[in-house]
Amino acid sequence: MSRRPYVGRFAPTPSGYLHFGSLVAALASYLDARAVGGRWLVRMEDLDPPREVPGAQAAILTTLEAYGFEWDGPVLRQSERLDAYRAVIAQWLASGLAYACDCSRKQLEGSGGLYPGHCRNRGLPATDAAIRIRVPELDYRFVDRVQGEFRQHLGRAVGDFVIQRRDGLIAYQLAVVMDDALQGMTDVVRGADLLDSTPRQLYLQELLGHPAPRYLHVPLLIQPDGHKLGKSYRSPPLPPEQAGALLVRALRTLGQPTRAELAEEAPAKVLAWGVAHWDAALIPRVPHLAEAQLPA
Ligand code: GLU
Ligand code: ZN
Repeated sequence: MSRRPYVGRFAPTPSGYLHFGSLVAALASYLDARAVGGRWLVRMEDLDPPREVPGAQAAILTTLEAYGFEWDGPVLRQSERLDAYRAVIAQWLASGLAYACDCSRKQLEGSGGLYPGHCRNRGLPATDAAIRIRVPELDYRFVDRVQGEFRQHLGRAVGDFVIQRRDGLIAYQLAVVMDDALQGMTDVVRGADLLDSTPRQLYLQELLGHPAPRYLHVPLLIQPDGHKLGKSYRSPPLPPEQAGALLVRALRTLGQPTRAELAEEAPAKVLAWGVAHWDAALIPRVPHLAEAQLPA
């Protein structure tokens, strides 16, 4: 079977500025796409207005430009897709695949993230309630291009999961699957913090009849205290004047070859070098990299 022509994406959430960890993810997806002459899109995952930092959307795009990234076509904003997400949720509610849940955070405490199914058969009205999707008692598996085989039993490890929050906000899991399909994504390259979201996404793809993309999860950068880089405190925007040097550092983090003089070059030159030398097989095959282990 011949593969569809490569389409990849970078899908930042504007809950903060671009930080070094997100630069590594952006770079990996960009190089993986461009190395095979593929398309590369940027999608703004702005599903959560209360958590959005004002100005972050524009700042992210400005930083990407300053770092030499060029994307194909307009930026898709998830905030413009709410009707489509809601239509699918309404359909699943009508068919009984999805159901309303009014469990409080307190009621769900102690179940370790696994939903115990309390509201499964209660037939609650879908107002002032979260909406959950029923999951099958099945293993979902895929072979990640860097992390290898990953499998998760949805019933035992996750349980029926939220697709719309009680406050009406659409869950990331649903939006990402619908948009990756809409945009014809063949390849998802992103941080390894989303490795264990992938089985849920495979399940939603199956429900929606969408083909599964290939996956490549790059190591997540963690701070010495074990926190994900850029999440435990608000990182400032990446400095445009250090674009060359930080891109070279991101290349090294991805295990790619570099040259000493490269750090002095314009960002577009560094990206062109990265495209010409890209080898996904060199990416460290670990889910986490501590900042202390990173090349300087
Ligand atoms: N918006 C997500 C994030 O910033 C990434 C989603 C994805 O790549 O699937 O963490
Ligand atoms: Zn419930």
